[in-house]
Amino acid sequence: SIPVITIDGPSGVGKGTTARLVAERLGWHLLDSGALYRVLAHAAMENDVPLDAEAHLGQMAERLGVRFEGEKVLLEGRDVSGQIRTEACGGVASQVAALPAVRAGLLRLQKDFRQPPGLVADGRDMGTEVFPDAQVKVFLTATPAERARRRHKQLKEKGIDANVSELESAIAERDRRDAERKASPLKPADDAVEIDTTDKSIPVVLDLVLSLVEE
Ligand code: C5P
Repeated sequence: SIPVITIDGPSGVGKGTTARLVAERLGWHLLDSGALYRVLAHAAMENDVPLDAEAHLGQMAERLGVRFEGEKVLLEGRDVSGQIRTEACGGVASQVAALPAVRAGLLRLQKDFRQPPGLVADGRDMGTEVFPDAQVKVFLTATPAERARRRHKQLKEKGIDANVSELESAIAERDRRDAERKASPLKPADDAVEIDTTDKSIPVVLDLVLSLVEE
């Protein structure tokens, strides 16, 4: 079957950066599954869809007109890259992500990213639910303070100046929701390799992940 590397973990552990670099190095496709939940959250807010309208949100998920163009994320052809990266959108994303119909609605779309020569998929449930047969599964962690610091830096690079302690509590709230929800709660797959990234540089994490991939 087409090879898949899954990279899961909470926010701010370096999943996105690691996944992108691994995909570049191997010349494989990349799935940023969090972006799908964020785009759906954005579409729901734009259309005033209540965040508990499960059936409606599930249908929106199934038909989500999302496309990736390099670093850009397009919704129905419109560039929403900036709008979906705010912590507010992340919070709403974690609310809609708790709905089983939404998770089911996004399954097909996610599985379709599995194309030759291979896929690197990052998210919360890539190794547990979406690609349970993945050849390599990684679960990244880092301390809450380090994650808030990274998120702050990341937002600053995008011109958004967030307050670190507010960010830390928003992240903690989102993690709690992701870990406690009934539908695909955040947890490492039984066969995942856990890597604590707190004191590791990006190249070190990248090499650790690549060392798991036998070619
Ligand atoms: O990874 P990112 O911060 O972009 O994800 C936003 C939210 O989407 C997460 O807090 C989580 O609730 C949800 N999500 C998910 N499953 C995934 C990816 C993201 O539930 N595979």
